[in-house]
Amino acid sequence: MISADKDTIAAVSTPIGFGGIGIVRISGCGSAAIARKVFRTSAPRVTAETHQTSKRISKEIIPRRLQYGYIVDPENPAVFNEVLMAYMPSPNSYTREDVIEIQSHGGMAALKTLLEIVLRSGARLADPGEFTRRAYLNGRIDLSQAEAVIDIIQAKTDASLRIANRNLEGEIGEAVREMKKILLEIQVVLEAHIEFPEDIEGKLDEQEIRSKLSREVLGPISAVLEGYKHGHLLREGVRIVILGRPNVGKSCMLNRILQRERAIVTSYPGTTRDSIEESISLFGLPAVIVDTAGWRNTNDPVEKIGIDRTKALSQNADLILFMVDAGTGVVPEDEDIFMQIQNKEKILIVNKADLLTGEPNINIPERWSHSGVLFTSAMFGHGIENMKEWIYKTLMSSGNLHEVEVVPNLRQKNLLERAQRALEGVLKNLSDQLHPELIAIDIKEAMDALGEITGDTVKPDIIDEIFSRFCIGK
Ligand code: GDP
Repeated sequence: MISADKDTIAAVSTPIGFGGIGIVRISGCGSAAIARKVFRTSAPRVTAETHQTSKRISKEIIPRRLQYGYIVDPENPAVFNEVLMAYMPSPNSYTREDVIEIQSHGGMAALKTLLEIVLRSGARLADPGEFTRRAYLNGRIDLSQAEAVIDIIQAKTDASLRIANRNLEGEIGEAVREMKKILLEIQVVLEAHIEFPEDIEGKLDEQEIRSKLSREVLGPISAVLEGYKHGHLLREGVRIVILGRPNVGKSCMLNRILQRERAIVTSYPGTTRDSIEESISLFGLPAVIVDTAGWRNTNDPVEKIGIDRTKALSQNADLILFMVDAGTGVVPEDEDIFMQIQNKEKILIVNKADLLTGEPNINIPERWSHSGVLFTSAMFGHGIENMKEWIYKTLMSSGNLHEVEVVPNLRQKNLLERAQRALEGVLKNLSDQLHPELIAIDIKEAMDALGEITGDTVKPDIIDEIFSRFCIGK
C-alpha cells in the first residue's frame, strides 16, 4: 500500500454557513504538535503577563478524551475561540494518522479564524476528500468503502442510506476479495502448467476449473449484478415522468407534489418547453419526478426539440403518470401518446376532475383503464395523497424494487461486467482446449477488473476522479 503524504492537513469539516457548532479537523504526524501550540485549557488574559499566563496553563493533549479549552492565536493571544478538542492518535483514527478534531462555535467568522490559526501553525489546507483518501491509502478502507462514504453524505432517503451503510461495512469489497481468492488459486494452477509442464502429471483439469469458476465466481458476480438492477433504483431514485398533452395540468401537478411553485403554470399550451426534474422522497423511497413538455404535433422548432426530449424521457421512465384532461375528455392526441407508451408501467390520471359535473363522460378506452383510473384536481389539491400512495404501491409491486443485500454503483457494475466477460472467455477457451497461457490472460484481466473495485489495481486518475466528488473536509 502506498503511504499517504507526510503533510499535516486541515479543513473545516462541517457545512459552511450558520450553525450551532463547527468542526475543524487536522490529520497527519504534525497534528498533536499543532494542538499543543494553539490549545489552552483556559482563556488568555490580554495583559502584560499574557504570554506568561498562556504558557503556564498549557496542558498535555490527552488522547481519546474530549478536552475543554481555547484555541489561541500564538501570534496574537487576543484572538481565541472556546472549543472542545479530541485527539485520536494513529492508527485508531479516521485516516489512521494522528487526528485532532476541534469543535468550536459555528459560523463563518469563528471557523475561518480557527482554520487560519491551525494553518499558520503548520498544517496545509486539505484537498476535497483528502481525509478519506488518506484512510484509503493507509489501508483502513478499500475504494468501494470510500465510495460508500460519498453515498452516505448524498443519501436523501432511508433506503439509500441503508445501502450506503452496508457498502461502508465493506460488503462489496468482501464479495470481490472472495472472488479474487478463487481466481488466484486457478492462476497458480495455470502458471504451474505453463512454467513446469514436464513436472505436472496429466492434463489441466478443465472440468474442475470450469465448475469452480461458475460456482464460486461467475455465480456471485451475477448475484451482485442482480443487486444493481434492483438496488440502483433505491440508490439513485425511481424516475417518475408526468406525460400528457399541453395544458392538461402537468406543471400544476408537479408543483402540487413538490408543494411549491417550481414550474410555471399558465393557460397557454406549450409553456413548458423543456423538462424539469426534482428529487422527492415518496414514503422513504427516493424518486426523481420529471415534468415534460406537452406532447403534441407542432411545427414550432423549439417546441419540437422539447417534445423529442419528452419521448426519450418517457422511454427511460420507471413509471409514467399519463395525464388526460377531464374538461375535454380523451381526444385522438391522447390516443397517439398512449400508443407510444403502451409497454411502459403507467398510471392513468384524469386531472381537472373539479370540472366534472354529474356523471363523468370522458370516453376512456376500455384497454387503457385495466389498472384503474385516478381522478385528481392539481389546481385544488384533490386526490394527490391518494395518487402518491398509488404511485408507491405500483412501484413496489413492479418487482424491480425489493431491497437487496449488496448494491454496486455504476462504476463497480461496469467492472463486474468486464470480469464476467473475461471469465466467459475463459470458459470458452477451456472448451476449445486452448493453451493455459491464453487462459491465464483472461483470468488476469478478470482479476484486474475486480481489483479496480477495491482499489488494489486502480489507476491514479480514477482515484483522483473518485475523490474529486468529495467535499473539502471529508
Ligand atoms: P401543462 O401544460 O400540462 O403543464 O398544464 P399547466 O399545469 O400549465 O396547466 C394548464 C392550465 O390548466 C392552467 O391554466 C392551470 O391553472 C389549469 N389547471 C391545471 N390543473 C387544473 C385542475 O386540476 N383543475 C382546473 N380547473 N384547472 C387546472
